[in-house]
Amino acid sequence: MEDCHRCPLRDTCTYPVGGSGKGYIMFIGEAPGEMEDKYNIPFIGLSGRLLRNAVGNDNYFTNAVKCRPPDNRKPTASEIEACFCHLVDEIEEVKPAMIVYIGTTAYSLHRKISAMYPGIPYLFFYHPAYAIRRGKAKEWSEEIGAIIKLIKEG
Ligand code: SF4
Repeated sequence: MEDCHRCPLRDTCTYPVGGSGKGYIMFIGEAPGEMEDKYNIPFIGLSGRLLRNAVGNDNYFTNAVKCRPPDNRKPTASEIEACFCHLVDEIEEVKPAMIVYIGTTAYSLHRKISAMYPGIPYLFFYHPAYAIRRGKAKEWSEEIGAIIKLIKEG
């Protein structure tokens, strides 16, 4: 991915941030933010830490788009489309038993992913940044934390 120039985001980001982690649940977010771009690790900014603290680190974390959009703007539909091949590579490699879409950008890929991988169950949650903006971070993290804990206890 380092040399990928399938969309213009590579011209302004520091690194493409690939997914990382171990576990059978794959969390898919929107795109790297400032911290992720700086340290080349997904979900380590304010929103990412809220998610990791709620669901634990024993999961695979990635994003719909691997390069940070300038000023943290939303990635465009064509950028999401251009980057989809990298997400497919990750799904092929990780073979997740469950996919958790974090935010509407990630969830916009659900139709394509479920057509390609019809057996994988999924969940959708609002993005933690949205919960933080609305003053609902505690409720958001308690809800997602409880659901993921139940799933892991199986
Ligand atoms: S966002 Fe994805 S498609 Fe665009 S340059 Fe980065 S890795 Fe390539």
